[in-house]
Amino acid sequence: MSRFGAHAFIWRSDWTPTTARDVIEGAAAAGLDFVEIPLLRPFDFDVDGARALLEANGIAATCSLGLPVDASLPDDPAGATRFLRQALDMTAGVGSPVLSGVIYGTLGAQDGRPPTEADYDVIAATLKPLAREAASHGISLGIEPVNRYESFLVNTTAQGLDLIGRIDEDNVFLHLDTYHMNIEERGFEAPILAAGDKLRYIHLSESDRGTPGRGNVDWEGVFRGLAAIGYAGDLVMESFVDLNPDMARATCMWRDVVEDPGRLVGDGLEFLRDLARRHGVLANR
Ligand code: MN
Repeated sequence: MSRFGAHAFIWRSDWTPTTARDVIEGAAAAGLDFVEIPLLRPFDFDVDGARALLEANGIAATCSLGLPVDASLPDDPAGATRFLRQALDMTAGVGSPVLSGVIYGTLGAQDGRPPTEADYDVIAATLKPLAREAASHGISLGIEPVNRYESFLVNTTAQGLDLIGRIDEDNVFLHLDTYHMNIEERGFEAPILAAGDKLRYIHLSESDRGTPGRGNVDWEGVFRGLAAIGYAGDLVMESFVDLNPDMARATCMWRDVVEDPGRLVGDGLEFLRDLARRHGVLANR
């Protein structure tokens, strides 16, 4: 059966030993199976502290990131490899089975040119050995397409599947996000069907990044698609209540999109859990 989780930025804009406690206790209180930890600074990450908090609260973790500007792809394969290797160590350290997100580039980085075949070849050649290293720890790598304003590299399901084909390792999967899909895809159901068993992680995020159910995402279409492919991957509520300056700049979040942050988790999860139950997505595994 699919697990239900939420992104840490629903509770706090940054990951520090203090905010980690708020996030993990908040996720546990909401009855979630796991919390998604942003590994944006894996060299400073307090892995032992995070693990202890997760264990104390009986909750699991997944990990995600975007590459930093000074260790990005396709520009700096050696730097990106060092960064991702450290992130893999931290991912293993908190017991997460996945490291996902924009592992192929930097959020908000634009070269003012279209991507080339050579870009994708460099990215695939960099991620392939990391995927093999990840597999030896029982970890899978996710590719999250994001909208054109946040990356010029992978915006659609089709581009994500193409990159996964170039990497050609079984433990590399597609990670969709309904916020980005709302901008880049023609509908929600068809791309999910096209992704099929390559789709193993999904960010359930409203069209304005606010409370799920209040915006333009076609949620029935999303869950019809998930049910049709027998989805048994992770379901992750993602909303940004409060962002650190780097993330705000990368995602252009300049105003509050949740009227009542105290009700976001309860209202959002109730809406998403009801959908998942009605479409049988919570009973596929
Ligand atoms: Mn996302």
